[in-house]
Amino acid sequence: MPTKIQKIRSSAFARQAGRCHYCRAEMWQGDPDHFVRRHGLTRREAMRFMCTAEHLQARCEGGKDAAPNIVAACLFCNRMRHARARPLNPERYKAHVARRLQRDGWHGRQFRHLLAT
Ligand SMILES: [Zn+2]
Repeated sequence: MPTKIQKIRSSAFARQAGRCHYCRAEMWQGDPDHFVRRHGLTRREAMRFMCTAEHLQARCEGGKDAAPNIVAACLFCNRMRHARARPLNPERYKAHVARRLQRDGWHGRQFRHLLAT
């Protein structure tokens, strides 16, 4: 049985048409095999595009495990946002990712085909 957070993540994934809230890259959930084959990636490369439940307001700041506080984000964007000592708020982080997408593709040029055009 999926947990509550998995259900919220899955509905965010569907609402966002399978694309990351921040970088708009295609994501996968469940089993990566299909995604790996379709995009010619290794499993390791595919990991960064795994769909995660991203808390807009972090749990440690009182953010809830509830649908309005959760978007679907790729593992890479999720990790990079929370890797900072003081994570940017979602709007500023999204703008940061957009600038990086323009400048260097954010994920790297080899993953360009996974990004929205
Ligand atoms: Zn992303």
